[in-house]
Amino acid sequence: MLEGKVAAVTGASSGIGRATALALARAGARVIAGARRAGRLDALASEIAAAGGTAIARPLDVAERASCEAFVRAAADEWGRVDILVNNAGLMPLSFVKRLKVDEWERMVDVNIKGVLYMTAAALPAMAEAKSGHIVNVSSVAGRLVFPAGSVYCGTKHFVTAFSEGLRQELSARSGIRVTCIEPGVVATELTSTITDESLSSFVEGAKKMEALRSEDIAASILYAVEAPAHVNVNEVLIRPREQER
Ligand code: NDP
Repeated sequence: MLEGKVAAVTGASSGIGRATALALARAGARVIAGARRAGRLDALASEIAAAGGTAIARPLDVAERASCEAFVRAAADEWGRVDILVNNAGLMPLSFVKRLKVDEWERMVDVNIKGVLYMTAAALPAMAEAKSGHIVNVSSVAGRLVFPAGSVYCGTKHFVTAFSEGLRQELSARSGIRVTCIEPGVVATELTSTITDESLSSFVEGAKKMEALRSEDIAASILYAVEAPAHVNVNEVLIRPREQER
């Protein structure tokens, strides 16, 4: 269904990004996979190639504007364009505000917010000129509600949800670019590995007792959005594990 399309996936070295890159390639897209851990990306590209798909791996730090621009340029050099951009890279070092983990707040702003902006800015001009394209932003249930120790993370994800809606209003009707905001609940990935606030260890362990979503579940929702007919704009997908209440 995605034959001929070029898809750029950020944060493709693990979790949701990795599963999404695999799913897009399986559906026929040529995939450029980015993240900082180059070894993992190379393994992913080999896995895609071994299954008969097409992928290239490129180191990417979404917190660096020049890196985002180079990433999109690499896709253009290889295949001439980017049709689908999946802004997935993100981190979640949850902590209570009173712990003043200001460096972690800054990192979340740099990756979860600025990373989405830089990647969008890098990919947008060619999409606007072609009057087609699809931007998929991975927000979160945390982009809809706020919970203790999530003040900053939820703030960054509220940004992603708001920015997605703004992009849709500005770009979909006028420039032919579709915009989808994905809002997962708990997904079993490495995401909690950045949490350094020790008072949250029981919360993190507690969340593991529930049957969480798998990265493949989110990849399937992204595939649903990008494979929809061109006149269909899947604006939001809110998806929780059945057992998750909030
Ligand atoms: P993972 O930790 O498994 O994946 C995060 C990915 O982001 C990794 O590939 C990591 O790669 C990449 N990344 C982090 N920093 C950067 C950076 N500066 N530049 C480029 N890539 C970076 O977690 P998930 O798969 O769960 O997270 C993916 C997205 O899903 C995030 O935006 C997260 O907020 C969101 N999400 C996750 C949920 C969950 O429960 N897991 C729920 C709701 C939303 P590397 O370290 O190699 O750079």
